[in-house]
Amino acid sequence: VRWWGRVDRASKDPINGVTEAFLADPSSNKINLGVGAYLDDEGKPVVLQCVREAEAKIAASQFLGSISTAVSSKYVEESVKLVYGRDSDVIKEGTYAGVQALSGTGACRLFAELQRRFYPGSMIYLPDPTWSNHHNIWRDAQVCKRTFRYYDPDTKGINFAALVDDIKNAPNGSFFLLHPCAHNPTGIDPTEEQWQEISYLFKVKNHFPFFDMAYQGVASGDLERDANAIRIFLKDGHLIGCAQSFAKNMGLCGHRIGCLSVLCDDKRQGVTIKSQLQQIARAMYGSPPLHGMLLVSTILGDPEIKRLWVKEMKVMANRVQRMRATLRQVLEKLGSPLNWEHITNQVGMFCFSGLSPDQVDQLARDFHIYMILDGRMSMAGVTTGNVNYLANAIHEVTR
Ligand code: PLP
Repeated sequence: VRWWGRVDRASKDPINGVTEAFLADPSSNKINLGVGAYLDDEGKPVVLQCVREAEAKIAASQFLGSISTAVSSKYVEESVKLVYGRDSDVIKEGTYAGVQALSGTGACRLFAELQRRFYPGSMIYLPDPTWSNHHNIWRDAQVCKRTFRYYDPDTKGINFAALVDDIKNAPNGSFFLLHPCAHNPTGIDPTEEQWQEISYLFKVKNHFPFFDMAYQGVASGDLERDANAIRIFLKDGHLIGCAQSFAKNMGLCGHRIGCLSVLCDDKRQGVTIKSQLQQIARAMYGSPPLHGMLLVSTILGDPEIKRLWVKEMKVMANRVQRMRATLRQVLEKLGSPLNWEHITNQVGMFCFSGLSPDQVDQLARDFHIYMILDGRMSMAGVTTGNVNYLANAIHEVTR
């Protein structure tokens, strides 16, 4: 049967589309502010020293080429300690189900599948805006989606009153996806007091919080601080779901290494849920890749390599913060009449610039600077060498 005629070309992914346009541009001044992977001040991808050391340590590993459940369990345990806290009751009592996942994307996908199977008819509330792939993931899992208000274009900050309204107005027992730190794409996180209020409202409404933790350590350079939102929910006794990714904070995007965990009432329930997650994964992709898991468990399990990781993470976070400060400073020095405070108020990898789609187009056309149409700039693409050129171009298109 010849059936390809039924298939239309898929719409371009907004993020991959930016990279394609960037690669096709022959200009030597071109800048890619699309992808969120960390780059150094020369604009080059980085392999962290902690990863190199872990690699050397596992080079002679007896596990390469085989799957070891014990090593994988250790990996999951070390990962979940990062989000829930080494000394939390969850860890001490083992009241969770955790599985290795194909990076943050795969962890979200597994959760969405679990939600559809065991809570049919439930919906997921996604922040507006959010990482565009969240929409694809829950769409493909056939879970209905709604959005809740998050961003205020006037203040370029959080629209907290609207967010609270939407939490209150959602049917009791709704699923919400929350970014615990470094919200993508806005770079705006709730304050500690706001998180406390959100957690309180979730209790009142009996909502289920699913945290997508793609940037732990990248927002502040401090793993504990970036987990604060989750710790607040934990203290309030919520049963949480959490997707973790080591793509950004360890620079392991190509290894597809992440973790999905869900908190349970007791250990037995954890074993049950885990068995279902494993069954879902088995039919989707068999088993997850080994090498990235060995890298992460080696880094997390060796105090010296872990210290090196934490140090390198701070270097990455500081560089991004420095570029934010410089970009704002240069724009102000150029005499831009606009307010650019949000560049330094926002955190993490992204700056939600407030540039209009027309201005974004003009930046690409006239200045060879590429970003997503919603004006999100990856600050990792900004360097000492290109920040003046970038500021000047932004000034020109916003005059
Ligand atoms: N969640 C958010 C909010 C993200 O920004 C990303 C990556 O950009 C991911 C999840 C998934 O990343 P990965 O699958 O590379 O871990």
